Amino acid sequence: MNAKKLQKKLGKRFGENVKVEIKDNCIALSGSLAKWDDIIEACRMSVDKKGKMHVVNDIELQGVEIPPMRVPDIDDNALEGEKPDVLIIGGGISGASIARELSKWDIDIMLVEKEADLALQASGRNDGEVHPGVDLSKGTLKHHYVRLGNEMYGRICEELDVPFRRCGQYAGFCQRWLYPVIKLFAWQRKYLGGIKDTCVVSSKELKKREPELNPNFLFALYNPSSGVVCPYGLTIAYAENAVTNGARVELNTAVLSMETQGGEIKSVLTNRGRIYPKIVINAAGVFAEEIAKMAGDRFFSIHPRRGTNSILDKKSCYLISSIASIKKLELHSHTKGGGILHTIHENILVGPDAVETYEKENVATAQDSIDKVFAKQKNTAAKLSEKDIITYFTGVRAPTFEEDFVIEKGRKTKNLIHCAGIQSPGLTTAPAVALDIEKMTIEELSKIGQVSRNKNYNPYRKGIPVLRKMSPEKRAEMIAQNPDYGIIVCRCEEISKGEIIDALKSPICVPTLDGIKKRVRPGMGRCQGGFCSPLVTKIIADFLKKPISEVRKCSEKSVISYGPTKGAEQ
Ligand SMILES: Cc1cc2nc3c(=O)[nH]c(=O)nc-3n(C[C@H](O)[C@H](O)[C@H](O)COP(=O)(O)OP(=O)(O)OC[C@H]3O[C@@H](n4cnc5c(N)ncnc54)[C@H](O)[C@@H]3O)c2cc1C
Repeated sequence: MNAKKLQKKLGKRFGENVKVEIKDNCIALSGSLAKWDDIIEACRMSVDKKGKMHVVNDIELQGVEIPPMRVPDIDDNALEGEKPDVLIIGGGISGASIARELSKWDIDIMLVEKEADLALQASGRNDGEVHPGVDLSKGTLKHHYVRLGNEMYGRICEELDVPFRRCGQYAGFCQRWLYPVIKLFAWQRKYLGGIKDTCVVSSKELKKREPELNPNFLFALYNPSSGVVCPYGLTIAYAENAVTNGARVELNTAVLSMETQGGEIKSVLTNRGRIYPKIVINAAGVFAEEIAKMAGDRFFSIHPRRGTNSILDKKSCYLISSIASIKKLELHSHTKGGGILHTIHENILVGPDAVETYEKENVATAQDSIDKVFAKQKNTAAKLSEKDIITYFTGVRAPTFEEDFVIEKGRKTKNLIHCAGIQSPGLTTAPAVALDIEKMTIEELSKIGQVSRNKNYNPYRKGIPVLRKMSPEKRAEMIAQNPDYGIIVCRCEEISKGEIIDALKSPICVPTLDGIKKRVRPGMGRCQGGFCSPLVTKIIADFLKKPISEVRKCSEKSVISYGPTKGAEQ
């Protein structure tokens, strides 16, 4: 990378507002610009397409104060002086899967997550698609891990008792002239790109398999290995398995700063005290760059990218049994472009879009996003209707400007391992990435002392029984053993009191409305908790032996009720 040439190129577009320097083997950009989109463009223009140099962005957004990271209100010393062998920062799919793989070893593992539950950021706000990787370029880490991860899903979900279905993915085309291009592309992907299941299906075959898709689809690119999983369910399952194998998960715990000395992290300050880990793993999603900076090892930048999805009522399920999207030839797209997906929980998901943002934690959903996604996806299935939306959500991806993962040991800081830039398909790749991070961690720990296997390691986790999926006979048998399984609390999703109590007794108990909703689904249905929320709140209160007013929706701040009204008893 030639800094002078790049400076000239940026000068033509942005005048003297952007300065380039090659520093510490990085392309460091500084200066200031008035629009966030211009900052993104400047950084993209600077990407070193050949080399290993990352873009590090310090261009200021004029007149805007970037919101700081949200930190929990808790401020105690509960973790002061703790000395785990490994400290994992981040309780998303990356952190949780790494914790589980490391729990095969006889080491002290602590995972800290700043939110009140696991998977509250990208890992709980995505499509839950296990991608085939057909859109990824060879030579990238994303491509390397996507096949490995995809192939591991069957085994991992069986071990962790998480439902998973290989339903296949179709990309439909309406332009006949594209047929030879896509045939060639499929051949290239299959035989040279390592995506062996890639093929092209005819419109006749497509109509037979998915009759509600656009009748104008002339052919479709098809990958049968694509699947669907519950992303937060899998994250929780990974973390629970880690905990039963001896790891610790500390929620409401934010890493605030680090003390480093001689290229080594000596201690990590959290809102719950100072921790002294031997190795630190950076799996902090959109905040991975901040963690790298705290550790004196910042060599990449994250530019947050929002994506919005709508969830449709189960009655729309007839629209599709797999995953599909309409495709045109797009050369410079950074996402698969959204689509329609039949979820593992039998809903339809429509989205996501991709919008650059400087706000890492703003997950508010914009009407505009929903409108654009529907306008596009009605070309995939014309009968899609906004009237069937039961809820929507927005997640924020964490890409680097190189649009690839950063999975490596610290460049300047010895006892640090990065699992950063984990944008899509980070859910798919997580099982395979976790194995490599496990290897790197054990390699580093072995330099300090002997590391032995955890003799009690059990890869199996038993999930909470799902009564609505059982035969009437099995259900009756379960109810006979525990009458609480016979008390239906959530009518939309058919969730019993017994399942809610099971969730309250699970290895990582999060006794909030949202914590229970994520684990056993009351409130996920058509009425979105309108009927069952008070009942679930009461069950949680009784379980905790606390007044209802002390039960929260999600975090400490999200009060549901302040106390009795009209002089009533609790
Ligand atoms: C809209 C959307 C759709 C997607 N669809 C798919 C898909 O279908 N398939 C797929 O494979 N991938 C998909 N992805 C990508 C996938 O969701 C992510 O790659 C993956 O979830 C990233 O996981 P993570 O654990 O690295 O990050 P996260 O889930 O963001 O976890 C990082 C965690 O670190 C915590 N944290 C941050 N800073 C600190 C700190 N200082 N102290 C303590 N904790 C901290 C955060 O609170 C967060 O919980 C999608 C992403 C989005 C946004």
